[in-house]
Amino acid sequence: MGQEHTSRGLFENNSRRTIYNCHTHTFTVDHVPKYVGKGLMPLGLHKILSVDRCGIEGIVKRLDAITKSPRWVKWLKRLFGSEFVPMLKRYVNLGKYADNKGQLEIFQSLLSYYPRGTKFVVLTMDMEYMEAGPPAVKFAEQLDELAAVKADPYYGKLLHPFIFADPRRANIGDLVKFYIEEKGYTGIKLYPALGYYPFDPRLMEVYEYACKNEIPLMTHCVRGIIYYRGKKKAEWNQHPIIPNLTLPEESNGKFTVNFTHPLNYECLMNPNLLHPYLHKHKKAGTYKGTFPDLSKLKMCLGHWGGEDEWKRYMTDPWLSDDDHVQGIQLPLNANTWKKVSWFSIIAELIEKYPDSLFVDISDTLAYDHIYPLLKVSLVNPTIRRQVLFGTDFFVVAGEDAERSLSIKLRAEVGENAYWDIAQANPERYLSSKIHPNP
Ligand SMILES: [Zn+2]
Repeated sequence: MGQEHTSRGLFENNSRRTIYNCHTHTFTVDHVPKYVGKGLMPLGLHKILSVDRCGIEGIVKRLDAITKSPRWVKWLKRLFGSEFVPMLKRYVNLGKYADNKGQLEIFQSLLSYYPRGTKFVVLTMDMEYMEAGPPAVKFAEQLDELAAVKADPYYGKLLHPFIFADPRRANIGDLVKFYIEEKGYTGIKLYPALGYYPFDPRLMEVYEYACKNEIPLMTHCVRGIIYYRGKKKAEWNQHPIIPNLTLPEESNGKFTVNFTHPLNYECLMNPNLLHPYLHKHKKAGTYKGTFPDLSKLKMCLGHWGGEDEWKRYMTDPWLSDDDHVQGIQLPLNANTWKKVSWFSIIAELIEKYPDSLFVDISDTLAYDHIYPLLKVSLVNPTIRRQVLFGTDFFVVAGEDAERSLSIKLRAEVGENAYWDIAQANPERYLSSKIHPNP
Protein backbone atom coordinates (compact mmCIF):
# COMPACT_ATOMS: atom_id res chain seq x y z
CA MET A 1 0.00 0.00 0.00
CA GLY A 2 1.28 3.49 -0.84
CA GLN A 3 0.84 6.71 1.09
CA GLU A 4 -0.76 10.00 0.17
CA HIS A 5 1.11 13.20 0.92
CA THR A 6 -0.38 16.21 -0.74
CA SER A 7 -4.09 15.83 -1.13
CA ARG A 8 -5.25 15.99 2.50
CA GLY A 9 -5.49 19.78 2.34
CA LEU A 10 -7.83 19.53 -0.62
CA PHE A 11 -10.64 18.50 1.70
CA GLU A 12 -9.65 20.60 4.67
CA ASN A 13 -11.62 23.69 3.96
CA ASN A 14 -10.53 27.10 5.10
CA SER A 15 -13.64 27.58 7.21
CA ARG A 16 -12.13 25.04 9.63
CA ARG A 17 -15.33 23.08 9.93
CA THR A 18 -15.38 19.76 11.71
CA ILE A 19 -16.63 16.56 10.14
CA TYR A 20 -18.31 14.07 12.51
CA ASN A 21 -18.50 10.43 11.49
CA CYS A 22 -21.28 9.18 13.76
CA HIS A 23 -20.98 5.44 13.19
CA THR A 24 -17.67 3.55 13.36
CA HIS A 25 -16.21 0.57 15.21
CA THR A 26 -12.77 -0.25 16.56
CA PHE A 27 -13.51 -3.54 18.31
CA THR A 28 -11.20 -6.39 17.44
CA VAL A 29 -11.37 -10.11 16.75
CA ASP A 30 -10.80 -10.67 20.47
CA HIS A 31 -14.14 -9.01 21.29
CA VAL A 32 -16.12 -11.26 18.96
CA PRO A 33 -17.53 -14.58 20.26
CA LYS A 34 -15.83 -17.72 19.06
CA TYR A 35 -18.77 -19.05 17.07
CA VAL A 36 -20.32 -15.87 15.72
CA GLY A 37 -20.86 -17.65 12.40
CA LYS A 38 -22.92 -20.41 14.05
CA GLY A 39 -26.06 -21.20 12.11
CA LEU A 40 -24.93 -19.15 9.14
CA MET A 41 -21.92 -21.14 8.13
CA PRO A 42 -23.12 -24.25 6.37
CA LEU A 43 -21.70 -27.72 6.96
CA GLY A 44 -20.26 -26.90 10.38
CA LEU A 45 -17.83 -24.48 8.75
CA HIS A 46 -18.08 -22.18 11.80
CA LYS A 47 -16.08 -24.77 13.75
CA ILE A 48 -13.50 -25.29 11.05
CA LEU A 49 -13.16 -21.52 10.70
CA SER A 50 -13.29 -20.64 14.40
CA VAL A 51 -10.62 -18.14 15.32
CA ASP A 52 -8.77 -20.23 17.87
CA ARG A 53 -8.57 -23.22 15.59
CA CYS A 54 -6.86 -22.18 12.40
CA GLY A 55 -5.55 -18.71 13.20
CA ILE A 56 -7.01 -15.56 11.80
CA GLU A 57 -4.49 -15.20 9.00
CA GLY A 58 -5.35 -18.57 7.57
CA ILE A 59 -9.07 -17.78 7.58
CA VAL A 60 -8.64 -14.37 6.04
CA LYS A 61 -6.41 -15.58 3.25
CA ARG A 62 -8.77 -18.37 2.31
CA LEU A 63 -11.93 -16.30 2.51
CA ASP A 64 -10.43 -13.30 0.73
CA ALA A 65 -9.53 -15.47 -2.24
CA ILE A 66 -13.00 -17.03 -2.27
CA THR A 67 -14.90 -13.73 -2.17
CA LYS A 68 -12.82 -12.39 -5.05
CA SER A 69 -13.42 -15.32 -7.35
CA PRO A 70 -16.51 -14.80 -9.55
CA ARG A 71 -16.87 -18.56 -9.95
CA TRP A 72 -16.89 -19.19 -6.22
CA VAL A 73 -19.27 -16.29 -5.64
CA LYS A 74 -21.73 -17.69 -8.16
CA TRP A 75 -21.67 -21.14 -6.62
CA LEU A 76 -21.94 -19.94 -3.03
CA LYS A 77 -24.89 -17.74 -3.93
CA ARG A 78 -26.67 -20.65 -5.52
CA LEU A 79 -25.94 -23.03 -2.66
CA PHE A 80 -26.42 -20.82 0.39
CA GLY A 81 -28.37 -17.74 -0.74
CA SER A 82 -27.44 -14.16 -1.48
CA GLU A 83 -26.56 -13.29 2.14
CA PHE A 84 -23.70 -15.71 2.30
CA VAL A 85 -21.00 -13.90 0.32
CA PRO A 86 -21.50 -10.50 2.05
CA MET A 87 -21.20 -12.39 5.34
CA LEU A 88 -17.89 -13.87 4.22
CA LYS A 89 -16.67 -10.40 3.23
CA ARG A 90 -17.39 -9.13 6.75
CA TYR A 91 -15.32 -11.94 8.18
CA VAL A 92 -12.52 -10.93 5.85
CA ASN A 93 -12.73 -7.28 6.95
CA LEU A 94 -12.71 -8.24 10.59
CA GLY A 95 -9.63 -10.32 10.04
CA LYS A 96 -7.83 -7.79 7.86
CA TYR A 97 -8.38 -4.73 10.01
CA ALA A 98 -9.07 -5.99 13.47
CA ASP A 99 -6.48 -8.67 14.03
CA ASN A 100 -3.30 -8.14 16.01
CA LYS A 101 -4.20 -4.52 16.56
CA GLY A 102 -5.43 -2.68 19.58
CA GLN A 103 -8.35 -0.26 19.44
CA LEU A 104 -5.96 2.70 19.37
CA GLU A 105 -4.23 1.36 16.26
CA ILE A 106 -7.55 0.76 14.52
CA PHE A 107 -8.65 4.27 15.50
CA GLN A 108 -5.40 5.71 14.14
CA SER A 109 -5.91 4.01 10.80
CA LEU A 110 -9.47 5.36 10.68
CA LEU A 111 -8.18 8.90 11.32
CA SER A 112 -5.67 8.61 8.52
CA TYR A 113 -8.44 8.65 5.92
CA TYR A 114 -9.99 11.96 7.03
CA PRO A 115 -9.06 15.64 7.21
CA ARG A 116 -7.31 16.65 10.43
CA GLY A 117 -9.67 17.31 13.31
CA THR A 118 -12.44 14.95 12.13
CA LYS A 119 -14.30 13.41 15.08
CA PHE A 120 -15.68 9.90 15.37
CA VAL A 121 -18.38 8.07 17.26
CA VAL A 122 -16.91 4.66 18.13
CA LEU A 123 -19.51 2.06 19.05
CA THR A 124 -18.53 -0.71 21.45
CA MET A 125 -20.13 -4.17 21.18
CA ASP A 126 -21.13 -6.51 23.99
CA MET A 127 -21.52 -9.92 22.36
CA GLU A 128 -21.45 -11.99 25.54
CA TYR A 129 -25.21 -12.69 25.62
CA MET A 130 -25.85 -13.75 22.03
CA GLU A 131 -25.17 -17.43 22.74
CA ALA A 132 -22.24 -17.72 20.35
CA GLY A 133 -19.57 -18.63 22.84
CA PRO A 134 -17.30 -16.37 24.85
CA PRO A 135 -15.08 -13.67 23.36
CA ALA A 136 -11.36 -13.90 24.16
CA VAL A 137 -11.43 -10.47 25.81
CA LYS A 138 -14.24 -9.48 28.17
CA PHE A 139 -16.55 -6.50 27.58
CA ALA A 140 -15.15 -4.58 30.56
CA GLU A 141 -11.65 -4.72 29.05
CA GLN A 142 -12.97 -3.52 25.70
CA LEU A 143 -14.55 -0.53 27.46
CA ASP A 144 -11.43 0.28 29.46
CA GLU A 145 -9.14 0.03 26.44
CA LEU A 146 -11.29 2.58 24.63
CA ALA A 147 -11.48 4.73 27.77
CA ALA A 148 -7.66 4.87 27.68
CA VAL A 149 -7.81 6.26 24.12
CA LYS A 150 -10.37 8.80 25.35
CA ALA A 151 -7.97 9.82 28.13
CA ASP A 152 -5.19 10.56 25.62
CA PRO A 153 -4.77 14.34 25.25
CA TYR A 154 -4.61 14.19 21.43
CA TYR A 155 -6.85 11.26 20.43
CA GLY A 156 -9.38 11.86 23.20
CA LYS A 157 -10.59 15.06 21.55
CA LEU A 158 -11.43 13.21 18.36
CA LEU A 159 -13.20 10.28 19.97
CA HIS A 160 -16.83 9.88 21.08
CA PRO A 161 -17.14 6.40 22.58
CA PHE A 162 -20.60 4.85 23.04
CA ILE A 163 -21.16 2.21 25.70
CA PHE A 164 -23.13 -0.86 24.68
CA ALA A 165 -26.24 -1.52 26.79
CA ASP A 166 -27.47 -5.12 26.90
CA PRO A 167 -30.48 -5.59 29.21
CA ARG A 168 -29.22 -9.05 30.20
CA ARG A 169 -26.05 -7.64 31.76
CA ALA A 170 -26.41 -7.11 35.51
CA ASN A 171 -26.38 -3.50 36.74
CA ILE A 172 -26.36 -2.11 33.21
CA GLY A 173 -27.78 1.21 34.47
CA ASP A 174 -24.86 1.78 36.86
CA LEU A 175 -22.32 0.69 34.25
CA VAL A 176 -23.66 3.17 31.67
CA LYS A 177 -23.67 5.99 34.19
CA PHE A 178 -20.14 5.24 35.35
CA TYR A 179 -18.60 5.19 31.86
CA ILE A 180 -20.41 8.35 30.79
CA GLU A 181 -19.65 10.35 33.91
CA GLU A 182 -16.24 9.00 34.89
CA LYS A 183 -14.67 7.71 31.68
CA GLY A 184 -15.70 10.30 29.12
CA TYR A 185 -18.14 8.13 27.15
CA THR A 186 -20.55 10.22 25.05
CA GLY A 187 -23.49 7.93 24.31
CA ILE A 188 -25.15 4.52 24.41
CA LYS A 189 -25.25 1.74 21.82
CA LEU A 190 -28.07 -0.80 21.34
CA TYR A 191 -28.22 -3.87 19.13
CA PRO A 192 -31.60 -5.59 19.60
CA ALA A 193 -30.77 -8.26 17.00
CA LEU A 194 -28.65 -9.89 19.71
CA GLY A 195 -31.90 -11.08 21.31
CA TYR A 196 -34.03 -8.38 22.97
CA TYR A 197 -36.60 -5.71 22.21
CA PRO A 198 -35.52 -2.09 22.60
CA PHE A 199 -38.42 -1.53 25.05
CA ASP A 200 -37.10 -4.25 27.39
CA PRO A 201 -38.10 -3.16 30.95
CA ARG A 202 -34.52 -3.81 32.13
CA LEU A 203 -33.39 -0.89 29.96
CA MET A 204 -35.79 1.70 31.43
CA GLU A 205 -33.26 2.93 33.95
CA VAL A 206 -30.79 3.56 31.10
CA TYR A 207 -33.41 5.39 29.05
CA GLU A 208 -34.57 7.58 31.91
CA TYR A 209 -30.99 8.58 32.58
CA ALA A 210 -30.38 9.28 28.86
CA CYS A 211 -33.60 11.27 28.53
CA LYS A 212 -32.92 13.39 31.59
CA ASN A 213 -29.38 14.22 30.44
CA GLU A 214 -30.05 14.39 26.67
CA ILE A 215 -27.53 11.62 26.05
CA PRO A 216 -27.52 10.24 22.49
CA LEU A 217 -28.38 6.61 21.75
CA MET A 218 -27.48 4.64 18.64
CA THR A 219 -29.32 1.50 17.64
CA HIS A 220 -28.80 -1.00 14.85
CA CYS A 221 -31.71 -0.78 12.38
CA VAL A 222 -30.97 -2.95 9.35
CA ARG A 223 -31.23 -6.65 8.57
CA GLY A 224 -27.86 -8.10 9.44
CA ILE A 225 -25.77 -11.16 9.94
CA ILE A 226 -24.90 -10.68 13.61
CA TYR A 227 -27.81 -11.92 15.73
CA TYR A 228 -28.91 -14.11 18.63
CA ARG A 229 -27.71 -17.69 18.10
CA GLY A 230 -29.50 -19.38 21.01
CA LYS A 231 -32.82 -21.22 21.07
CA LYS A 232 -35.87 -19.18 20.12
CA LYS A 233 -38.25 -18.80 23.08
CA ALA A 234 -41.92 -19.84 22.82
CA GLU A 235 -43.22 -16.48 24.07
CA TRP A 236 -41.54 -14.76 21.14
CA ASN A 237 -44.33 -15.96 18.85
CA GLN A 238 -46.44 -12.94 19.81
CA HIS A 239 -45.26 -9.34 19.73
CA PRO A 240 -45.25 -8.12 23.33
CA ILE A 241 -46.94 -4.77 22.60
CA ILE A 242 -48.66 -4.72 19.21
CA PRO A 243 -51.95 -6.64 19.45
CA ASN A 244 -52.61 -9.63 17.19
CA LEU A 245 -49.15 -9.58 15.70
CA THR A 246 -47.97 -13.17 15.49
CA LEU A 247 -44.34 -13.78 14.67
CA PRO A 248 -44.06 -17.33 13.43
CA GLU A 249 -40.56 -17.10 11.96
CA GLU A 250 -38.68 -20.20 13.02
CA SER A 251 -35.04 -19.61 12.15
CA ASN A 252 -33.03 -17.11 14.17
CA GLY A 253 -31.92 -15.36 11.00
CA LYS A 254 -35.51 -14.63 10.02
CA PHE A 255 -36.76 -13.88 13.52
CA THR A 256 -34.07 -11.30 14.27
CA VAL A 257 -35.88 -8.84 12.01
CA ASN A 258 -38.63 -8.61 14.64
CA PHE A 259 -36.18 -7.33 17.24
CA THR A 260 -34.70 -4.85 14.75
CA HIS A 261 -38.03 -3.59 13.33
CA PRO A 262 -38.36 0.23 13.45
CA LEU A 263 -41.93 0.10 14.82
CA ASN A 264 -40.41 -1.11 18.11
CA TYR A 265 -39.22 2.48 18.59
CA GLU A 266 -42.80 3.74 18.34
CA CYS A 267 -43.58 1.21 21.11
CA LEU A 268 -40.72 2.69 23.13
CA MET A 269 -41.27 6.40 22.55
CA ASN A 270 -45.07 6.50 22.70
CA PRO A 271 -46.09 6.42 26.40
CA ASN A 272 -49.58 5.18 25.46
CA LEU A 273 -47.98 1.98 24.22
CA LEU A 274 -45.08 1.70 26.65
CA HIS A 275 -46.91 2.31 29.91
CA PRO A 276 -49.54 -0.48 29.68
CA TYR A 277 -46.68 -2.86 28.83
CA LEU A 278 -44.66 -1.75 31.87
CA HIS A 279 -47.78 -2.03 34.04
CA LYS A 280 -48.11 -5.66 32.99
CA HIS A 281 -44.54 -6.29 34.07
CA LYS A 282 -45.05 -4.46 37.33
CA LYS A 283 -48.05 -6.63 38.14
CA ALA A 284 -46.04 -9.75 37.33
CA GLY A 285 -43.23 -8.55 39.57
CA THR A 286 -40.74 -8.31 36.71
CA TYR A 287 -40.52 -4.51 36.77
CA LYS A 288 -40.06 -2.24 39.74
CA GLY A 289 -39.30 1.10 38.12
CA THR A 290 -41.31 4.16 37.14
CA PHE A 291 -43.27 4.96 33.98
CA PRO A 292 -41.10 7.32 31.98
CA ASP A 293 -42.13 9.47 29.02
CA LEU A 294 -39.45 8.63 26.46
CA SER A 295 -40.84 10.65 23.56
CA LYS A 296 -37.83 12.97 23.79
CA LEU A 297 -35.24 10.19 23.81
CA LYS A 298 -32.38 11.10 21.45
CA MET A 299 -32.37 7.90 19.41
CA CYS A 300 -30.53 7.31 16.14
CA LEU A 301 -31.73 4.45 13.94
CA GLY A 302 -28.41 3.32 12.48
CA HIS A 303 -28.30 2.52 8.75
CA TRP A 304 -31.76 4.11 8.20
CA GLY A 305 -33.36 0.68 7.75
CA GLY A 306 -30.86 -0.54 5.15
CA GLU A 307 -30.58 -0.31 1.39
CA ASP A 308 -32.91 -3.26 0.78
CA GLU A 309 -35.74 -1.37 2.50
CA TRP A 310 -34.95 1.70 0.36
CA LYS A 311 -35.29 -0.51 -2.70
CA ARG A 312 -38.60 -1.82 -1.36
CA TYR A 313 -39.88 1.73 -0.91
CA MET A 314 -39.02 2.53 -4.52
CA THR A 315 -40.78 -0.50 -5.96
CA ASP A 316 -43.85 -1.06 -3.75
CA PRO A 317 -47.06 0.72 -4.81
CA TRP A 318 -48.53 3.43 -2.63
CA LEU A 319 -51.77 2.68 -0.80
CA SER A 320 -54.93 3.68 -2.62
CA ASP A 321 -56.54 6.93 -1.42
CA ASP A 322 -59.26 4.96 0.39
CA ASP A 323 -56.72 3.10 2.48
CA HIS A 324 -54.48 6.05 2.92
CA VAL A 325 -53.81 6.98 6.48
CA GLN A 326 -54.00 10.68 7.04
CA GLY A 327 -51.25 12.43 8.91
CA ILE A 328 -48.44 10.62 10.55
CA GLN A 329 -50.40 8.11 12.61
CA LEU A 330 -49.12 4.73 11.53
CA PRO A 331 -51.76 2.10 12.24
CA LEU A 332 -49.99 -0.25 14.60
CA ASN A 333 -50.94 -3.64 13.25
CA ALA A 334 -49.62 -6.69 11.45
CA ASN A 335 -50.20 -5.09 8.07
CA THR A 336 -47.96 -2.11 8.78
CA TRP A 337 -45.41 -4.38 10.44
CA LYS A 338 -45.14 -6.78 7.53
CA LYS A 339 -46.08 -4.81 4.43
CA VAL A 340 -44.80 -1.25 4.82
CA SER A 341 -41.14 -0.59 3.98
CA TRP A 342 -38.86 0.42 6.83
CA PHE A 343 -37.96 3.53 4.84
CA SER A 344 -41.60 4.68 5.02
CA ILE A 345 -42.00 3.78 8.68
CA ILE A 346 -38.83 5.61 9.66
CA ALA A 347 -39.78 8.70 7.66
CA GLU A 348 -43.09 8.82 9.55
CA LEU A 349 -41.35 8.33 12.87
CA ILE A 350 -39.06 11.27 12.13
CA GLU A 351 -42.10 13.45 11.40
CA LYS A 352 -43.65 12.29 14.66
CA TYR A 353 -40.54 12.80 16.82
CA PRO A 354 -38.87 15.60 14.85
CA ASP A 355 -36.16 16.61 17.31
CA SER A 356 -35.36 13.32 18.92
CA LEU A 357 -35.41 10.57 16.29
CA PHE A 358 -32.27 10.56 14.12
CA VAL A 359 -31.01 8.27 11.35
CA ASP A 360 -27.53 7.60 10.04
CA ILE A 361 -26.60 6.52 6.55
CA SER A 362 -23.73 4.21 7.46
CA ASP A 363 -23.57 1.03 5.41
CA THR A 364 -26.51 2.24 3.31
CA LEU A 365 -24.37 4.96 1.67
CA ALA A 366 -22.17 2.29 0.10
CA TYR A 367 -24.93 1.44 -2.41
CA ASP A 368 -25.19 3.60 -5.53
CA HIS A 369 -28.93 3.11 -5.95
CA ILE A 370 -29.80 4.96 -2.70
CA TYR A 371 -28.55 8.38 -3.80
CA PRO A 372 -31.58 9.67 -5.75
CA LEU A 373 -33.90 8.89 -2.82
CA LEU A 374 -31.41 10.27 -0.31
CA LYS A 375 -31.10 13.57 -2.20
CA VAL A 376 -34.87 13.94 -2.56
CA SER A 377 -35.41 13.08 1.13
CA LEU A 378 -32.95 15.79 2.14
CA VAL A 379 -35.20 18.38 0.48
CA ASN A 380 -37.67 17.78 3.34
CA PRO A 381 -36.45 20.12 6.10
CA THR A 382 -37.71 17.95 8.97
CA ILE A 383 -35.87 14.90 7.70
CA ARG A 384 -32.76 16.85 6.76
CA ARG A 385 -32.25 18.00 10.36
CA GLN A 386 -32.19 14.42 11.61
CA VAL A 387 -29.74 12.71 9.23
CA LEU A 388 -26.23 11.91 10.42
CA PHE A 389 -23.09 11.02 8.47
CA GLY A 390 -21.58 7.63 9.31
CA THR A 391 -19.74 4.88 7.47
CA ASP A 392 -19.71 1.76 9.70
CA PHE A 393 -15.91 1.55 9.40
CA PHE A 394 -14.54 -1.23 9.24
CA VAL A 395 -17.40 -3.70 9.36
CA VAL A 396 -18.85 -3.28 5.91
CA ALA A 397 -16.40 -1.72 3.58
CA GLY A 398 -13.06 -1.90 5.28
CA GLU A 399 -10.70 1.01 5.35
CA ASP A 400 -9.87 0.86 1.66
CA ALA A 401 -13.28 2.37 0.88
CA GLU A 402 -13.41 4.84 3.76
CA ARG A 403 -12.27 8.00 2.00
CA SER A 404 -14.10 7.31 -1.24
CA LEU A 405 -17.41 6.78 0.61
CA SER A 406 -17.11 10.13 2.36
CA ILE A 407 -16.11 12.05 -0.73
CA LYS A 408 -18.78 10.41 -2.82
CA LEU A 409 -21.49 11.37 -0.33
CA ARG A 410 -20.26 14.98 -0.32
CA ALA A 411 -20.22 15.14 -4.09
CA GLU A 412 -23.69 13.64 -4.38
CA VAL A 413 -25.61 15.72 -1.83
CA GLY A 414 -23.71 18.99 -2.27
CA GLU A 415 -21.95 21.23 0.24
CA ASN A 416 -24.93 22.61 2.18
CA ALA A 417 -26.62 19.29 2.85
CA TYR A 418 -23.25 17.69 3.49
CA TRP A 419 -22.35 20.08 6.30
CA ASP A 420 -25.79 19.65 7.82
CA ILE A 421 -25.43 15.89 8.05
CA ALA A 422 -21.69 15.84 8.78
CA GLN A 423 -21.53 18.70 11.28
CA ALA A 424 -24.63 20.65 12.37
CA ASN A 425 -26.85 17.63 13.04
CA PRO A 426 -24.12 15.55 14.74
CA GLU A 427 -23.28 18.47 17.04
CA ARG A 428 -26.92 18.68 18.10
CA TYR A 429 -27.16 14.90 18.46
CA LEU A 430 -23.96 14.46 20.46
CA SER A 431 -24.19 17.32 22.91
CA SER A 432 -25.65 16.33 26.27
CA LYS A 433 -26.00 17.95 29.68
CA ILE A 434 -22.98 15.92 30.80
CA HIS A 435 -20.81 16.56 27.73
CA PRO A 436 -22.18 19.78 26.20
CA ASN A 437 -19.39 20.45 23.69
CA PRO A 438 -18.90 17.55 21.30
ZN1 LIG B 1 -22.15 -0.63 12.88
